Amino acid sequence: MQYDILIIGACTAGLYFAKRMAEQGYRVLVVDRDKQENLGKRLEIFHMDLGEMERYGAPAPEEGNDFVHSFKFSASRSALGRWEKYHEHTVYVMKLPAYIQRLVRWAGEYGAAFQFETAFEDLLIEGDKVVGAKLRQAQKSIEVRAKLVADCSGIGAVARTKLPQGCVCENFSLEDSDKFYVTVNYVSFLKPEKVHIRHTISWPYYKVWIAPRETQQGAIVGVGANMSYEYGERCLQKFLENVRIPDYRVDRVERGAVPYHRPPYSFVADGFAALGDSACLTKPSNGEGVTAAWYLVDIAAEEIGAAMSGGEAPTAEAMWGANVRYQRTQGAAFAELLATMTGAVDCTPEENDYEFKHNLIFKSNLLNRKVDKQQEKKDLIRGLVKGVMKGKMRPRTIKKLLHYSSIASKIKHHYLEFPADIHGYSEWKEQADALWASAGSMADVVYDKEYYLNDCGK
Ligand SMILES: Cc1cc2nc3c(=O)[nH]c(=O)nc-3n(C[C@H](O)[C@H](O)[C@H](O)COP(=O)(O)OP(=O)(O)OC[C@H]3O[C@@H](n4cnc5c(N)ncnc54)[C@H](O)[C@@H]3O)c2cc1C
Repeated sequence: MQYDILIIGACTAGLYFAKRMAEQGYRVLVVDRDKQENLGKRLEIFHMDLGEMERYGAPAPEEGNDFVHSFKFSASRSALGRWEKYHEHTVYVMKLPAYIQRLVRWAGEYGAAFQFETAFEDLLIEGDKVVGAKLRQAQKSIEVRAKLVADCSGIGAVARTKLPQGCVCENFSLEDSDKFYVTVNYVSFLKPEKVHIRHTISWPYYKVWIAPRETQQGAIVGVGANMSYEYGERCLQKFLENVRIPDYRVDRVERGAVPYHRPPYSFVADGFAALGDSACLTKPSNGEGVTAAWYLVDIAAEEIGAAMSGGEAPTAEAMWGANVRYQRTQGAAFAELLATMTGAVDCTPEENDYEFKHNLIFKSNLLNRKVDKQQEKKDLIRGLVKGVMKGKMRPRTIKKLLHYSSIASKIKHHYLEFPADIHGYSEWKEQADALWASAGSMADVVYDKEYYLNDCGK
């Protein structure tokens, strides 16, 4: 079998990419190891930003089908719950399995073909180029040749991790410390008449959030943490000890992991692209991945479409524009945020409250603010110095915060200078590796800082 594009994984990243390539007239095959009716069943409820959905022309949710609820802002609160920041954006609460079925129909209307219960086994590689994939259907192994294979298989990155060592698209697999293990508790409040959760509230310090669910009597109480679900449970317990929320009983629990690792520096290789969770494309602030991935998919579809317009299989060099356009925009912003987040939670609850109160790190409308960076840096330093003088911040915390924000700013500037063509890549990558090595990770805060687990540094 010969296709232009073979997509591994029929979920949000794969289906949007299928639509974008099929509408350009390419022959697209999407395969998924699951049965069609089981797609997306790992998650009942998910959230999508209305503005972002509109930007990608995605089908809007339908009443009585995948629509659950909508709200106009979300909030984040300090560790002791005394301070709050608002983020204005309309958010849809939706049912993932029903929405995925609509995305399958949507991509199909543009001409994409599907084969379900078809699992990826290995890449077909000739010379250094990916030329297709070996797939398994029931007991049968088949080979599908394609000019481009796109890995949209989620956090397992089943195809990207099979790329040869030294390939321009890195083949790393994720360790436990590179993932956020997310537990979603669907809860009912014991006194439902006294409480109604209308929008999402998060407590970044504990990596805990509360969100509306499909019934007004309840909510979703979620926690996501590095290393393991058990560690996440301990974060939730610490949260419940410090912050009062109405008593609840847990009706049902869902679990899943999201990447918490920088994306590969190059999303493309000869005849290959990695998109979605397989390329670690989640928002560092909250782990949401659907529209974060669509941002890259949109750019990649344009660049890959252009690279294939002459009928040939696309090389990494021909698709390089996808890396440049992504890394210099959302890539730079997410990289900065990923490196900053570690410092922001490496402190005591009291210090986190002080950070919130004085707009240090935690601000309203974090991702879409227009700011004067120089002024912001001055305000940060002034605020931190005041904090030490008033005894609200320890010098140790200040040192860490300044270290992380300085590295984060260097990383962002490095991404803004992502090489315009593949020839400058090796040197850029070496420098990027050195910067990330000094950035540390959220998992370091857990491994090295026992106070977080035990007595919060008191
Ligand atoms: C608990 C939880 C809550 C979340 N909530 C939100 C939210 O509210 N909003 C948001 O934007 N994001 C949310 N996310 C993140 C979001 O779910 C992911 O970022 C997004 O689903 C990634 O989409 P994807 O298409 O890249 O991968 P996936 O959704 O993981 O899909 C991968 C597909 O590949 C298939 N596949 C895997 N291996 C193979 C194989 N060997 N052969 C063939 N097919 C294969 C799978 O069956 C699957 O259908 C949440 C994640 C979790 C864990």
